[in-house]
Amino acid sequence: MSYVQNVLEQAIKRNPGEVEFHQALKEVLESLEPVIAQRPEYERAGILERIVEPERVIMFRVPWVDDQGNVQVNRGFRVQFNSALGPYKGGLRFHPSVYLGIIKFLGFEQIFKNSLTGLPIGGGKGGSDFDPKGKSDNEVMRFCQSFMTELYRHIGADTDVPAGDIGVGGREVAYLYGQYKRITGLYEGVLTGKGLTFGGSLVRTQATGYGLVYFMDEAIKARGKSFNGATVVVSGSGNVAIYATEKAQQLGAKVVTLSDSNGYIYDKDGIKLDTVKRIKEIERKRISEYVKEHPTAEYYEGYSDIWSVPCDIALPCATQNELDGEAAKTLIKNGCFAVGEGANMPSTPEAVEVFLANKTIYAPGKASNAGGVACSALEMSQNSMRYSWTFDEVDAKLKNIMIGIYNSASEAAKEFGMEGNLVAGANIAGFLKVADAMMAQGI
Ligand code: GLU
Repeated sequence: MSYVQNVLEQAIKRNPGEVEFHQALKEVLESLEPVIAQRPEYERAGILERIVEPERVIMFRVPWVDDQGNVQVNRGFRVQFNSALGPYKGGLRFHPSVYLGIIKFLGFEQIFKNSLTGLPIGGGKGGSDFDPKGKSDNEVMRFCQSFMTELYRHIGADTDVPAGDIGVGGREVAYLYGQYKRITGLYEGVLTGKGLTFGGSLVRTQATGYGLVYFMDEAIKARGKSFNGATVVVSGSGNVAIYATEKAQQLGAKVVTLSDSNGYIYDKDGIKLDTVKRIKEIERKRISEYVKEHPTAEYYEGYSDIWSVPCDIALPCATQNELDGEAAKTLIKNGCFAVGEGANMPSTPEAVEVFLANKTIYAPGKASNAGGVACSALEMSQNSMRYSWTFDEVDAKLKNIMIGIYNSASEAAKEFGMEGNLVAGANIAGFLKVADAMMAQGI
């Protein structure tokens, strides 16, 4: 058995039941086979055994009182996975599906994603099984305060810098930041995605979605294609989906779908983003509300059928494993030539196989959605300088970073004999930097 397979088997055994983490481990480790074959020093230094084990896992109780006066208890997590390149960096996810296996998969992916940005940030992730859906603003505030009452002792501007993810947006980051400041008295860049009046960065809200489209624009240009005039299917209706839609529209594409966990909307004339922004960002309602205002649009229950809508480019921006092998085949049959992941690991391993076998332009999330965390790192820089850049300055840096990630992933794929395979390329390019830093820093 190869060194890689052996480490993979041991890691799976050691983390029973954490299926999403196993999936991420397998996907990353197997693509590193050609690197390990060329560089035996990584095996001698135990790099893989070390990289699959988080440096630290923190799990804690989060008690809070709901509006009826009942005590509720949730579980909080922070996985500080790897600090070879910089302070741990990665979002917090509040969703009922959250358990250790989800946070570990996300934290593991984050190591390579953050490395790809070229900025000095390590990998981490956190969150809770708290469900923000249907909670009042006060309940969300009390929950965030309780969460930070434990988390504050584990984080800091130079040690670990959380941000948002599913269920954690500007409102939650602000409540978390307020509590950190109240407890520690420190006005420091300990969280990113902050409001613009207290240390937030311009473009952070748009960054993941915009970055995804900058990346895909580069990838499809290399094959002589363009967003201009393309029909695009986007899933999700959170921050990533909304701003991917906005940038795709700016480049002349027609985005025809968006979704939430109940169903999806199809607007053959193109999604009216102002309506979506109001429904999702201000009213915090379901995406089905859209069809009440735009009678030409249709709403379909159940969101997996979204992949049967014919398109040129698909951008899965909802959640992990939302696009399976069958959906991948349907997309290709209907003419889709490019898939760019805005979410983390939205395509199942079977779907990825289908894309690679059909030479679909396929961008894995750890490369194509890195714009969010890249902009977070720019927010950290601005906080350290006590300065802020203009929208255009940050946007230009974001675009350069995304083009840089595309180039490193495609060059690494080529160097290791897998030209056009951005999955392998992203894993290899991300890994090499972390591995070399770990080697240099000793055991
Ligand atoms: N949650 C985002 C991600 O998956 C952003 C993390 C951050 O800004 O730290 O990369």
